[in-house]
Amino acid sequence: MSGRPGAVQTGRQACRHVIIGHGPAGLSAAEAIRALDADASITIVSEEPYRFYSRPGLAFYLAKRVPQEQLFSRPDAYYRHWRIDTVHARAEGLDPTARLVHLAGGRRLPYDRLLLATGSAAALPNVPGIDLAGVVTLDSLSDTRTILDAVRQARSAVVVGGGVTALELIEVFLARGLKVHYLLRRARYWSSVLDEAESGLVLKRLRDEQVEIHTETELGQVLGRKGRVAGIETRAGQRIGCEVLGIAIGVQPRLELARPAGLPTRKGVLVDGHMRSGVKDIFAAGDIAEVSDGDAPGHLNMLWPVAIATGRTAGANMACADLADGPAAHGDTAGAPGALYRPGTPFNVCYLADLWVSIAGQVSPAGADDDLRHAGRGSSEAWQAASPDGDALRVVSGRAPGAYQRLHVQGNRLAGAVIMGDQRLATPARYLIEQAIDLGPVRAALLAPGADLAQVLLPFYEAVRA
Ligand SMILES: Cc1cc2nc3c(=O)[nH]c(=O)nc-3n(C[C@H](O)[C@H](O)[C@H](O)COP(=O)(O)OP(=O)(O)OC[C@H]3O[C@@H](n4cnc5c(N)ncnc54)[C@H](O)[C@@H]3O)c2cc1C
Repeated sequence: MSGRPGAVQTGRQACRHVIIGHGPAGLSAAEAIRALDADASITIVSEEPYRFYSRPGLAFYLAKRVPQEQLFSRPDAYYRHWRIDTVHARAEGLDPTARLVHLAGGRRLPYDRLLLATGSAAALPNVPGIDLAGVVTLDSLSDTRTILDAVRQARSAVVVGGGVTALELIEVFLARGLKVHYLLRRARYWSSVLDEAESGLVLKRLRDEQVEIHTETELGQVLGRKGRVAGIETRAGQRIGCEVLGIAIGVQPRLELARPAGLPTRKGVLVDGHMRSGVKDIFAAGDIAEVSDGDAPGHLNMLWPVAIATGRTAGANMACADLADGPAAHGDTAGAPGALYRPGTPFNVCYLADLWVSIAGQVSPAGADDDLRHAGRGSSEAWQAASPDGDALRVVSGRAPGAYQRLHVQGNRLAGAVIMGDQRLATPARYLIEQAIDLGPVRAALLAPGADLAQVLLPFYEAVRA
């Protein structure tokens, strides 16, 4: 932290920026504003009692892989340096006409520019008993306390759902010594992203850890005793005793402020490439933002790096008088000044059943069925985007003990990749996708039956990078 951020002194009246949400989108926006405007007041509002922390790190903390302190990366000095004020209170309503945020307890916060970066929250299935104590989700640091309380006296747990979070909950319960049952709505795990072999690899590892897997099994109701979870009953009538029930059926953007305030929404808050909502001087970024340039639905991206990128764009535009003072009509981006968000290759590295897994680009057909009923945390709807017309997609895969690589080749380009286990191909694959590198010189070798994908791609990657 050297130098004073926000070197440009404008001389105009200080602009009041209010940011609701203290995650990566909110904090990146605050930094971007300060970098452009030394005079502005910047206030971040969060209903949580903590400052910025790593949400992807929560499961690592719960599974005893990292200490809690490691989740916090910004000391008090950081907030002083960037001159960011923080308010710990729940925002209960917006008044875009009076430019006010209503906080719990009756306090009102005036703003000139407002960013909504309220993230997303775990969805719950609509089944009897879902309100019982011992039903847990993993969204926040407060949830980790609830989970730790729930597992203290527990001997067994049931986990329902798919994607990254279901596996994280399973790992947490195993690390805490619980017997775990895993209910999968379909025949395999995370079928909208992983193919049969990849899913099989994950499920085998779970079985090796004594997880009892119930495929094609749906939660019917939660059984209780004295207000606490005592078991579950499946739709087929099977009963499984447990004291903890982990739910991971996906997340939904938190739109409870945006909708009543009249912001146009679809799956998320609709924003243009400048992250402007349809209401003047209100921006949105991170998990809640659906970037769309007109009628076509945008993708929800529940990814940390996307939250940083969209937050940064929003902040740069909030600080930019020309843009923010201009029209705020949604879809009106043509020719507008200011920072423009350009979606990159959605990418994630996650840890599934003791296996590092990297996922990049288009990896799955549109509309694939899944255990997740909503967007999955740590994933992007763009992974399921339909391939553009033109050359057919060729899927090549390579295997080694405990490792699996899948590449989607479209014409002469790499469109997507799933790399499980050995991660040597992860960065090269991401680079080749992002840079749309012409695979011409190695395409035939790559598509040859039984090709060693790493042997073909690694030297090629080194050569194109040189
Ligand atoms: C367990 C877990 C694992 C994950 N794993 C990965 C991963 O492997 N890779 C990856 O890329 N991403 C992962 N993610 C997703 C990633 O953390 C999110 O995409 C990212 O945090 C979104 O950032 P955000 O700033 O939009 O919202 P968030 O980080 O969710 O922050 C939202 C903020 O808004 C505040 N808020 C909401 N409503 C109100 C209100 N009314 N009043 C006041 N404050 C409010 C909240 O308190 C919070 O501070 C994971 C998330 C979780 C929970």
